[in-house]
Amino acid sequence: MLLVTFSEDGRTRIGVLDRARAEIVDLARAAPGLPQEMRTFIVLGAAGLTEARRAVASGAHRLPVARVKLLAPIPRPARNIFCAGKNYRAHAREFDSSGFGTAAENDAVPEVPIVFTKAPSTVIGTGEPIPAWLDPTQSTDYEGELAVVIGAGGRGIARADAMRHVYGYTIVNDVSARALQSRHKQWFLGKSIDGFCPMGPAIVTADEVPEVGGLRLQTRVNGELRQDAAVADLIFDIPTLIETLARTMTLEPGDVIATGTCAGVGVGFKPPKFLKHGDVVAVTIEPIGTLENPVA
Ligand code: MG
Repeated sequence: MLLVTFSEDGRTRIGVLDRARAEIVDLARAAPGLPQEMRTFIVLGAAGLTEARRAVASGAHRLPVARVKLLAPIPRPARNIFCAGKNYRAHAREFDSSGFGTAAENDAVPEVPIVFTKAPSTVIGTGEPIPAWLDPTQSTDYEGELAVVIGAGGRGIARADAMRHVYGYTIVNDVSARALQSRHKQWFLGKSIDGFCPMGPAIVTADEVPEVGGLRLQTRVNGELRQDAAVADLIFDIPTLIETLARTMTLEPGDVIATGTCAGVGVGFKPPKFLKHGDVVAVTIEPIGTLENPVA
């Protein structure tokens, strides 16, 4: 299933997206006993999904997608978005040769996962403008990424058990102010400007992605293909990222882990191709869909 958060007539709630018919099953009406907020729904796990499937099968309470506004599937995560840095070989090399890396990162390809976070206030939905004008350094760049949504939480999760904690997947654009990222010797500021984390358009539930390595990630800027990679090329795979995080902290339902971007970001070009007002960035990963945002 494709799960979405949407608003209609000023009311925000969750639904199931039917892309073929361009409709949303409004769970607030089709299954009124369910929570109307994504994180609370995720806490229900398989029981919530069974109820949602029943609501879809009933065929009732459908809305045309065109009539609603899609929000990020988790519009305001409970805590920071966890992110893997330099997790594709070709991107690690392009980043380190761009001159925007920090002194602490001498080796292009890391030996252990690099983990940083983005503030929850960075999250925006598909279609919403990326506020590049808030970047005082005018070095705004895109990073198309597959993101994992955690279902059952836990601490001390072993690699072998990690996929049982994956609720589903979404797309994240880890928008980054490159000059801030390098100037402050730490990525948080450059990654946490308001609106710098487009997310969506939906969460695809894990049961519909039997082999996550088989997914393909493509990013286009104004229609030009910039990033194109297989998720199988991740240096540290999803079980390793979950194991790494859960070794020190308790993961919670609704946590989001952005798995890293592949080669083809703006700073990989000489001269760099930073985002500017009027650009449109589209990140596509099927079967999730396309996360598309204009740049303001
Ligand atoms: Mg990133």
